[in-house]
Amino acid sequence: MKKNISKISMPINILMVDDRHENLLALEAILKDMGHHLVFAHSGAEALKLVLKNEFAVIILDIEMPTMNGFDTASLIRKREKSKSTPIIFLTASNATETSIFQGYLVGAVDYLVKPIEPEILRAKVSVFVDLFVKTEQVRQQAALLHRMTQEAHREDISKLKKKSEEAMWQMAHYDVLTGLPNRNMIANRLRDAIEINRSTGSLLAFFLIDLNRFKEINDTLGHPHGDLILKEIGARLQEILPEPNMAARLGGDEFAILLPKLADIKDIDRVIQKIIKTLTTPFLIDGFDGLPIMVEASIGVALYPEHGTNPNALMQRADVAMYAAKQSGRGYAIYVPDLDKHSPEKLMLLTELRRAMDQNELTLYYQPKIAMVTKKVIGLEGLIRWKHPSRGMIPPDAFILSAEQTGLIGPLTLFVIEAAARQCKAWQKEGVAIPIAVNLSARNLMDARLPEQVSEILARYDLSPSSLQFEITESAIMADPHRAAELLARLHKMGHQFSIDDFGTGYSSLGYLKRLPVDEIKIDQSFVTDMVLDEHDETIVRSIIDLSHNLVVRVVAEGVENKETWDHLSALGCDVAQGYYISRPIPANELTRWLSESPWVV
Ligand code: C2E
Ligand code: CA
Ligand code: CA
Repeated sequence: MKKNISKISMPINILMVDDRHENLLALEAILKDMGHHLVFAHSGAEALKLVLKNEFAVIILDIEMPTMNGFDTASLIRKREKSKSTPIIFLTASNATETSIFQGYLVGAVDYLVKPIEPEILRAKVSVFVDLFVKTEQVRQQAALLHRMTQEAHREDISKLKKKSEEAMWQMAHYDVLTGLPNRNMIANRLRDAIEINRSTGSLLAFFLIDLNRFKEINDTLGHPHGDLILKEIGARLQEILPEPNMAARLGGDEFAILLPKLADIKDIDRVIQKIIKTLTTPFLIDGFDGLPIMVEASIGVALYPEHGTNPNALMQRADVAMYAAKQSGRGYAIYVPDLDKHSPEKLMLLTELRRAMDQNELTLYYQPKIAMVTKKVIGLEGLIRWKHPSRGMIPPDAFILSAEQTGLIGPLTLFVIEAAARQCKAWQKEGVAIPIAVNLSARNLMDARLPEQVSEILARYDLSPSSLQFEITESAIMADPHRAAELLARLHKMGHQFSIDDFGTGYSSLGYLKRLPVDEIKIDQSFVTDMVLDEHDETIVRSIIDLSHNLVVRVVAEGVENKETWDHLSALGCDVAQGYYISRPIPANELTRWLSESPWVV
């Protein structure tokens, strides 16, 4: 028991109430050796004041007192919060009647002592109550401690989780998931910083773009997982031959970039190019293909600071032009020559043809449904452009959108798409199918202040409400000029158009921005979705984007859903909407009309 008491930090208070001072002294003489703190009160009123301020382990209360007797005092003590369950021992004269004892219990006495007091008995009783008090206090302190600990543990958990997800977001924003190399953002930032430094030191800098030749064939013949393995290995090899402060990055697909921020000698470029070519042409050995060596060829384009450009964008563009020239010539690499720009015959031809294609109706929209996962309902369609080239067959958008962007043709092309979508939407409405259609906007479109006006003109012409036309914009298109993008998107949103962030997870939109944009929908990039069932890392990213979207109260769409397992997994993660080959490939309007009437999905 001693041990227990010593654990309690607060002193044990005992209150003794008697109107006669000599009685109090007698009580003190009996109890003082027990080591507790003894407090005197000479009246009921004084006792009440004391229980307001202190907590007592036990109260010894004389019944016969003038003005306020022991019973009245006890009943008031019971009404005070601090003392409502403090044990009270009544002191009574030997002639106490049964009724008065009963009355004492009614007002909350827990025990009686008859005068003259037996010291041993008083000490025994007091020590019983003190033990009880100590135990209660220990339980209370332990409970408080436990409560504090749980709270702290919880706080720690949350901050750990927050830190982890912030780290994951940062990682996602700056590194390529497949190869672990820095991504486009990261190398662009590094390039910008290097230019700043070199501006003052006057030193040279080189930026390389590397595009693998015919990598699609490798993917098609070996399968995507093996293609990925090769990309991973390329990443590792590039990193090995390019130690700090040099940097290799993966820009996406089969495109890589290299930054040599401090070029001592222009001849170093040749050396690096030879190293890259050597490392890429060293055969890749792939398991399961009987040791068949795979060779990879690349086209490398180089631009130099300050010779070819003095800002990051210019240098990247010039490197791109040089890379394209390298590809054309088949020489493997090229350093930018101003003449090359815009004069690549292939590109020029495609562009003049694109202009013609628009006039001659070679461009057409295909449609791909978006399905609400819970209701299995078709809640929207995405319009995706196709070029039916008379001699080259179907050309996918990736082959011409970029060129259209670089030349300004994207303006008319986007209007063409919006008009086609509006016309088709109206046609379906007339057949009783009212589904909104989403079209893709480019970064360039977001810089065009006339767009909202042009859009509403088209809608008016087809007598459509703004809710029937939605827009999809990639994260990177927004981040190209966030302020202008936000302004234009706000205008479109105010007009009544919904808007999705496309390819989410591949660029870096700061959370702050995301919150300020009028976003209705986030589309998880298909590169994370396609393999999420097999790849834990992808699954984590998909899961975090779903959580993030729900925290922002934004609908979340998974693109690239190719099979039932992926659908089921997404459904378990609480994803709202799915889009992908599992539901339907993008198909022409007339086929989609049939699909809508025949498919098991709800229209
Ligand atoms: P996006 O907006 O991310 O469109 C989705 C792309 O993924 C489409 O490629 C679609 O065919 C493909 N896809 C859909 N489901 C699956 C699937 O389950 N698995 C796989 N592997 N792929 C799937 P598409 O049609 O070749 O378009 C490529 C990109 O071109 C689009 O990517 C979009 O950024 C751009 N694009 C297409 N049409 C337009 C347009 O009218 N204007 C602009 N500015 N860009 C467009
Ligand atoms: Ca899209
Ligand atoms: Ca997308």
